Amino acid sequence: MQLLDGKYVSEKVKVQIAEEAAQFLSETGRKPHLVAILVGNDGGSETYVASKMKNCEKVGFKSSLYRYDSTVTEAELLDKVREINADDDVDGLIVQLPLPKHIDPEKVTEAIDPKKDVDGFHPINLGRMMRNLPCYIPATPYGILLMLQAYDIDTTGMHCVVVGRSNIVGSPMSVLMARNANPGNCTVTLTHSKTKDLKEQVLQADIIIAAIGKKNFITADMVKPGAIVIDVGINRETSTETKSGYKLYGDVDFENVAPKSSYITPVPGGVGLMTIVGLLKNTLASARKEIY
Ligand code: NAP
Repeated sequence: MQLLDGKYVSEKVKVQIAEEAAQFLSETGRKPHLVAILVGNDGGSETYVASKMKNCEKVGFKSSLYRYDSTVTEAELLDKVREINADDDVDGLIVQLPLPKHIDPEKVTEAIDPKKDVDGFHPINLGRMMRNLPCYIPATPYGILLMLQAYDIDTTGMHCVVVGRSNIVGSPMSVLMARNANPGNCTVTLTHSKTKDLKEQVLQADIIIAAIGKKNFITADMVKPGAIVIDVGINRETSTETKSGYKLYGDVDFENVAPKSSYITPVPGGVGLMTIVGLLKNTLASARKEIY
């Protein structure tokens, strides 16, 4: 078993991004600029946004954060999105999800200018991805592709089973793994909560991508010996053992699955760190006008 080490790979890619950002600065006199909007006080969202901002600074990007109380109206939020869309100094805009119940996340996502949609959630970017056209690939699937590339894993001809069909992870991941590209060229099975015989499906997989949101959901008896296991899950539980007061668990029972796998991502230290790299790469591509 080999660990797919998100810490090692993400640090390596960030060094390269920092070099390219410095080059961009010397050529244009400005830094790539990512703006994040955070609504409310969800602990997970706070942590993710803080980490995104910190990583921007680390690679020499400018970052700005707009915070709103959870009572902000949908109209106020949409106004802010439009204002940022029109600001030429901004290359990328992300609105951290989830949003409070009274705000429609679809409306907010669609209000973001696709040219600045570095999370890759806008239907135009998702549609372009389906057609294999230049687009921002959603940050988490993009990070997974970068991880597979970093370890020279050729996925051609593999059977990939994706568990979970969310718009931000499972569904785009299934499309990317089926594309005529490497990583890609897989035969893909996309599974979800209504899948019959989930265990039998997952047992067929040469590569498993788990994006469910349930701690230790993928158990060793569901995994074929030698499978590649990508764990997207981030499940937070309060803990007295850590300084932060919580502990993170993946969707895969790492302890028992790891010995059976050929490659596996840990949680933490795997896909989460690569997601940030995907976001940074999209922001740099936007600044350089590589996509649009
Ligand atoms: P989501 O929108 O909640 O979707 C979960 C998916 O899992 C749904 O498609 C659901 O099926 C499926 N599912 C739930 N129970 C199941 C079961 N018993 N059997 C089979 N499928 C089942 O989740 P998400 O946004 O994709 O996130 C998934 C996990 O990844 C979460 O832990 C999240 O925190 C984490 N995440 C991590 C990163 C990262 O950077 N590492 C980024 C994003 C998300 P239905 O569609 O039928 O309901």
